[in-house]
Amino acid sequence: MTPRFCALLMLGLLAFAGIMPGYSMAAEPCPTLQATNPEARSAINHHLCFHSARPGEPAHAAQSASELPVDMPWTPANGHDLVFSHTDAVYWIQLTVHNPGANRALWYLKLNYPLLDEITFWQYRHQPGSPDVVTEAAPPLTTGDSLPFATRGIDYRYYLLPVTLDPSERRTITIRVHSSGALNVPLALMTPEEVIAESNHLTLIHGLFYGALLILAAFNLLLFFSSGTRYYFYNAFYISSMAMFLFAMGGFANQYFWPESAQLANLSIPLTLVICSAAMALFGWSFLDVSAGTISESVLRGLVWSAVGFLALTFLLPYSKAILLNTAHALMVIAALSVIATIRWRQGYLPAFWYIAAWMIMVVGALAYALAAFGYLGDYLAREVMMQAAVGGQVILLNYAMVQRWRLLNQKLLDIEHQARTELEFKVHERTAQLRNTMRELEQANRKLASLSLNDALTGLHNRRHMDNLLPELCREARRTGQPLSLALVDADHFKRINDSWGHDFGDQCLRHIATCLKNQIKRPRDVAVRFGGEEFALLLPGTDATGASKLCQDILEAVRDSRITAPDGTAVSLTVSAGIAELGVEEQPDSLFRRADEALYASKAAGRDAITLAQHSSEPASNS
Ligand code: GH3
Ligand code: MG
Ligand code: MG
Repeated sequence: MTPRFCALLMLGLLAFAGIMPGYSMAAEPCPTLQATNPEARSAINHHLCFHSARPGEPAHAAQSASELPVDMPWTPANGHDLVFSHTDAVYWIQLTVHNPGANRALWYLKLNYPLLDEITFWQYRHQPGSPDVVTEAAPPLTTGDSLPFATRGIDYRYYLLPVTLDPSERRTITIRVHSSGALNVPLALMTPEEVIAESNHLTLIHGLFYGALLILAAFNLLLFFSSGTRYYFYNAFYISSMAMFLFAMGGFANQYFWPESAQLANLSIPLTLVICSAAMALFGWSFLDVSAGTISESVLRGLVWSAVGFLALTFLLPYSKAILLNTAHALMVIAALSVIATIRWRQGYLPAFWYIAAWMIMVVGALAYALAAFGYLGDYLAREVMMQAAVGGQVILLNYAMVQRWRLLNQKLLDIEHQARTELEFKVHERTAQLRNTMRELEQANRKLASLSLNDALTGLHNRRHMDNLLPELCREARRTGQPLSLALVDADHFKRINDSWGHDFGDQCLRHIATCLKNQIKRPRDVAVRFGGEEFALLLPGTDATGASKLCQDILEAVRDSRITAPDGTAVSLTVSAGIAELGVEEQPDSLFRRADEALYASKAAGRDAITLAQHSSEPASNS
């Protein structure tokens, strides 16, 4: 105030002393705001004056506007935001408003910063005619978050001071602000309609924002309960603590959660901040899959435990120190997580990319918050929506990062499953091939065994067992079809002599030779040659009568007779065989057929060998040729 105004003030005091409570003051050098003019209202910073009173100054100790020294120098805000550094000064702010209209009207002076410890508003009406003389227009209003919420008068998270001006009334509003923390005083003069409209819009935005956070937190909590995966829990913890922090910063917590507790109102910001830091560290730790025993893990563990320590300290330290410590801690957590996420990304952990993207937004949000908390952001609440958009974006990206992580895990699982299935299929294939091979070998062995059991090892002809199986079958077939069936028994003549003269091996060679002769002579596919004894052979001839069999045997006898086998001593040995033939009679049994053929053979031997005898039916005598 200038000396001229001091003098005027003295005059005013003299004039009104004892008549009415009031004192004289000057509105200059801050231009009066015409309250009815919306443009002037939106340029309120051009009408504000302030004074920061340092400790020791009389203005610092002054408890009311009337106690202010008359020569206190007011500084015009000149259109700048009222942002004050983090000091223990007391700030005085002054605004003079005028109602040029013809009607009495109501405006609200809104203070858009809910974190101030103590604010007092005084309203002084200027006397018409002598504007330097003022009287108290309304009782002073003292509120702030160090006092119960009800002291605000109006149940609103902003400070709202009703200012009712009579026609042509000029009024000076003096504000005293004292706060241990960050300090900015964003003021606005609004009509009730403007307050309602703004409140409505903000209600919708805040409702959407906090509603979305609440749902996401609940959803993550449900995911945690159903899957047991820990990072869902930490994400829910982080989202809800972040929501609580912003709720406190925005003044909602004070309004709705602890309107009666000035202590909690003051504590809420550093408290929710440090809880938020712990949640960030825990979520990052588990989401980024930080391996045990690494430096990253030690850093995160240190940050979580220091958050617990700072949480305790918040209750012991004054607000200004607690907020400083906890903000520094939060910035450390954000920085550490950014570095660790980058390391994890470089290590090839893909979900870390989305985490980093989310964290970028968080860094912007954190800077905005730090600027606001330390009073550098002129009007925090005006930027609250921006901050909420940043946090919303971050939370969405973090959740997307979780989806990415889930996808990665799922892909790994699918890969493992696929690999296991492929390996299994391969093994089954391999085993099937082995089994098939074994089966084939077994079959071959069986076939060999079967042929061994039915063939004669020395000559390769069929053996006795085969003849025993086959002969009854051929007899039945012949009876059924009416076709003839002949059996010829062929026996080597004087074979004992061969063995005796040239040895058993040569005897064997001779037997093989006879077998070859037999094989060469039988032409029909169904004819069967058998060696059924030492030097005894049989021919089973289905579809052949005794005459045909006799011809065949003649050829055989001839072939054997005409061939020469060289003995070991060089002798050209000639062999002969005798044959007995029997044709199956009607209703005749196989053993009878065999017996008759054998008798015929015996007859051939008896007739001098190298001969063929046709067996007659049981009644007829045998005839040889
Ligand atoms: P026959 O003209 O009366 O048939 O006189 P044989 O000597 O052929 O008749 P016998 O039944 O008295 O003798 C059969 C001989 O055939 C006895 C044995 O030395 C010989 N023999 C039997 N089986 C085999 C064999 O597998 N290998 C050889 N090398 N000789 C055999
Ligand atoms: Mg013989
Ligand atoms: Mg014999």
